[in-house]
Amino acid sequence: MAAATPCYLDHNATTPLRPVAAQAMSRACELYGNPSSVHCFGRAARRIVEEARRQVATLVSVAPETVVFTSGGTEANKLALGGCGRARILASAIEHPSVLEAAENVEIVPVDRNGIVALDVLQSLLVSNDRPVVVSMMLANNETGVIQPVAEAARIAHEHGAIMHCDAVQAAGRLDVVMAAIGVDMLTLSAHKLGGPKGVGALVVSDRIHLSPIIRGGGQERGRRSGTENVPGIAGFGAAAEAAAQETGTAAAISELRDRLEAHICRHVPAACIVGVGVERLANTSCIALPGVSAETQVMALDLAGFAVSAGSACSSGKVTASHVLTAMGLGDDMAGCAIRVSLGADNDATDIDRFVSAYRELAQRAGATAA
Ligand code: PLP
Repeated sequence: MAAATPCYLDHNATTPLRPVAAQAMSRACELYGNPSSVHCFGRAARRIVEEARRQVATLVSVAPETVVFTSGGTEANKLALGGCGRARILASAIEHPSVLEAAENVEIVPVDRNGIVALDVLQSLLVSNDRPVVVSMMLANNETGVIQPVAEAARIAHEHGAIMHCDAVQAAGRLDVVMAAIGVDMLTLSAHKLGGPKGVGALVVSDRIHLSPIIRGGGQERGRRSGTENVPGIAGFGAAAEAAAQETGTAAAISELRDRLEAHICRHVPAACIVGVGVERLANTSCIALPGVSAETQVMALDLAGFAVSAGSACSSGKVTASHVLTAMGLGDDMAGCAIRVSLGADNDATDIDRFVSAYRELAQRAGATAA
């Protein structure tokens, strides 16, 4: 029987819209001017877009003019890799499909058993370098939460004359992301992972990179991305980014919940295995494998019990294949096809965790998978 109130534990798929973002969007909807129009209606819409650009820039400590608004993280990744004019793209094996499929012939940099990119292999791929290269590495993985050594990778890339792109979609708003500190040339952001609306994101591009647009026509976004701006979406993104930047203490509270979840799961279901447990991870993310019980079965059983979680990447949900991230970490199908992702948010509390653990325990018992 379904639990009374469904409990949302899938914040890496998307986050609830922050009330401040909804308010900003609603205000922006009343202004119908086109930001490119010179009259007062256009100028009012332009002010909204530029205020949001400032708010998003502040979140990652960059100059506002380096922020290019896009239709989301997927487009920003495509713009970065397709627009930077580098013939060779090196990307880690655990990148989001929008990076791995941004071009044909993306060369893969493997990860170790903890899901951390092998910098020695990156270095050797860069040594055999006779064409201009862009390296793409995410800051935090969407399935495991494992944090990547992006600053070190950027240093290696630059030493070899390559440029560096970072997909910070899952990290922004959850970690303190300062673009200059991680030393990358391009940074991808998405509004809906930090309490903003879906369908809007940004690519931050250092002014030392010449970016060619992939969408041409009207010359908006200083010629870097044509198309009339999504003013309400951008306004919501800005408000969410500002709220995320001002938040303090949320990560610590969420990490306590995550630790409680993992401790209870390990105690009650010894067969369960937490992926990436020994390395630095996002505070909100737990990737839990239950060997022999398919991820799809787990997600459906938990949904019936009133809990929303994902099998691997939610962006690819619907596809029942083993996670490419876990496979890249060397896990066999018994693990990679049997892992769920629980991703917490500020709206969760200890009661959610305790209720989830008992539902998970029942699921494991029914599947005969409680013993180690
Ligand atoms: N990059 C990562 C790491 C993601 O997790 C996602 C979405 O889940 C994306 C990119 C795509 O972002 P968007 O949904 O805004 O297109």
